[in-house]
Amino acid sequence: MTETRETIFSKIIRREVPAEIVYEDDLALAFKDIRPQAPVHILVIPKQPISQLSDAESKDHALMGHLLLTAKRVAKQVGLTNGYRIVINNGEDGGQTVYHLHLHILGGRHMKWPPG
Ligand code: AMP
Repeated sequence: MTETRETIFSKIIRREVPAEIVYEDDLALAFKDIRPQAPVHILVIPKQPISQLSDAESKDHALMGHLLLTAKRVAKQVGLTNGYRIVINNGEDGGQTVYHLHLHILGGRHMKWPPG
């Protein structure tokens, strides 16, 4: 299991770093990605700092479901009625750069497949 280190996302949760927050509840936070890859690009994160998907455990199953349902809720909230893509980059080969688990919501344009 990867050591859980403090990342910029913990600072966003604590409001020590500014972010455009679009949704918050007891377990999750959603905010706009600072380098958007689509017209709509939002990150959904757990407030509990799990480093990456491969570190999630059985005890986290309700939280994992909550994050997915939060992504669905936020996508609807921001008007992505024509579809969207949810992405989780896991680890180095997955292209993960911030080691605080996050779901990308990408929308507002037609997504290509396969991704690069
Ligand atoms: P990943 O490459 O999957 O780890 O995604 C990390 C994402 O976090 C990237 O899309 C970054 O643009 C985004 N990001 C990094 N720092 C910030 C920040 N301060 N506010 C919003 N998004 C950020």
